[in-house]
Amino acid sequence: MSDAVETRNVDVLIVGAGLVGSLAAIYMAKRGFNVEVYERRPDMRTVEISAGRSINLNLSCRGIEALKRIGIADDVLAEVVPMMGRMMHARDGALTYQPYGKDDTEFGNSVSRGGLNKMLMDIAEETGTVKFHFNLKADDADFDSNTMTFTNEQGEKIEVRASVIIGTDGAASAVRREMLKLDGYESTVEPLDYGYKELYIAPNADGSFKIEKNALHIWPRGTYMLIALPNFDGSFTVTLFLPYKGELSFEKLTTEESVREFFTEHFHDATELMPDLVETFMNNPTGHMETIKTFPWNVGGQCVLMGDAAHGVVPFFGQGMNCGFEDLTVFEECIADHLANGGALYVERRLRTDEEPRKTARLQLEGESNWQKLFEDFANRRKENCDAIADMAVENFIEMRDKVGDPKFLLAKAVEKILEKRFPGRYVSRYSLVTFSNVPYKLAKDAGIICDEILAELVSGIDKAEDVDLKKAEKLIDERLAPMLLKRPELAHQA
Ligand SMILES: Cc1cc2nc3c(=O)[nH]c(=O)nc-3n(C[C@H](O)[C@H](O)[C@H](O)COP(=O)(O)OP(=O)(O)OC[C@H]3O[C@@H](n4cnc5c(N)ncnc54)[C@H](O)[C@@H]3O)c2cc1C
Repeated sequence: MSDAVETRNVDVLIVGAGLVGSLAAIYMAKRGFNVEVYERRPDMRTVEISAGRSINLNLSCRGIEALKRIGIADDVLAEVVPMMGRMMHARDGALTYQPYGKDDTEFGNSVSRGGLNKMLMDIAEETGTVKFHFNLKADDADFDSNTMTFTNEQGEKIEVRASVIIGTDGAASAVRREMLKLDGYESTVEPLDYGYKELYIAPNADGSFKIEKNALHIWPRGTYMLIALPNFDGSFTVTLFLPYKGELSFEKLTTEESVREFFTEHFHDATELMPDLVETFMNNPTGHMETIKTFPWNVGGQCVLMGDAAHGVVPFFGQGMNCGFEDLTVFEECIADHLANGGALYVERRLRTDEEPRKTARLQLEGESNWQKLFEDFANRRKENCDAIADMAVENFIEMRDKVGDPKFLLAKAVEKILEKRFPGRYVSRYSLVTFSNVPYKLAKDAGIICDEILAELVSGIDKAEDVDLKKAEKLIDERLAPMLLKRPELAHQA
């Protein structure tokens, strides 16, 4: 770290102004810290960022909770399209609708990634203590002096020395990569052998939606599928999930002709809605998906990872952003606990090397400022939960890929719907626990295993969901599942 043209000093440095980084900036600013966010890309509020990367996302309970805690949930929810259920499109165009939750209080929210990101950046700036810097790519870190080196568009190096670094630079995090150079740091990256491609259904000329607005549309085809989420402007963002290799795969879709044939044969009704399909397919990149696990998440009290940088999950539970937002809910709880236990929290800024460090943004006057304890507490509370959602997302992918055509699996799902309605709060499916509640992901995973065992016992020997033995079901639920769920305050509303 030597040939830098400039050296800067900051209190809290956030690397990456994506969804989680921008939200983290608001949280830290609300706690009174001076925050500077460094982002590789240009400012998306002034420059159009290229399409083709999950343009809209399903925002659910956990993400909303993190927004609520800093009073911005209503602003965000004013710009979402509620999705009350899934609309399944069969090969012959027949439609089947499945409500998302047990009633109309449980639904998903389709939100624009760009719109939400811009809104979070605006709100962060409005606090008056957050500054964004764009076109600066994080390269190296020196954790001894807690300095990150960034490269600007001209190829010049800028060193940023920070009291605290929060790494929210996504799945390919440079901050994580730098941490992994230290002793005792480990990371695994498990790529999926599937890619995804984003496509588009334009609105009608009058701005209305071409297909049902308040639904997540799915064209399930066994080993591959298409989904579509509504956008606020009447359009839909469509995503094709397909293996990279094999009979039906991306490697076979290299010519316009092959793309047209593939879609006409497998997704006929969707193809008719996308006149520019072939062109969009050829122009948009093929995205990849992976599960990333890493630990530790912090370097002493200097640096911590959050969001995809700490825990990359595949998108089949629609939880990556929600999980990243929940990081902030938990981080804030850790700060509150730290202060409640007599701790203080401040950053020390040294403007010149010969200057005495100056304490800024001191939270609580007395007590020890211990960022390391805070970061470790945060990581320990999050790690097993983030691992759990990462595992469940892969399981959901396998379920969608291999089991949607299995009659026993479909029967179990139908029985599950009956149990959720009949025993509210006592039987809550894994899907509901993940999507419509804030219980720890690990608990959702453990409860899901018990749900599967109960369902397996109940469906053996029946062919129709209505024939399920409800007496036996109640006994199994009360013995095995309810004790786990009834004591959770997060589920009080379900009962
Ligand atoms: C197809 C698909 C569908 C998805 N659907 C959903 C969904 O429905 N619901 C949901 O909750 N989640 C979903 N996700 C997951 C979600 O997109 C991510 O979990 C979320 O974007 C993570 O936010 P983040 O801020 O941690 O990382 P990112 O959004 O990746 O942001 C990282 C930021 O850091 C910047 N950056 C990267 N490297 C550097 C560097 N070296 N220096 C400086 N800046 C850098 C990037 O430019 C970016 O702005 C989906 C993901 C995919 C791929």
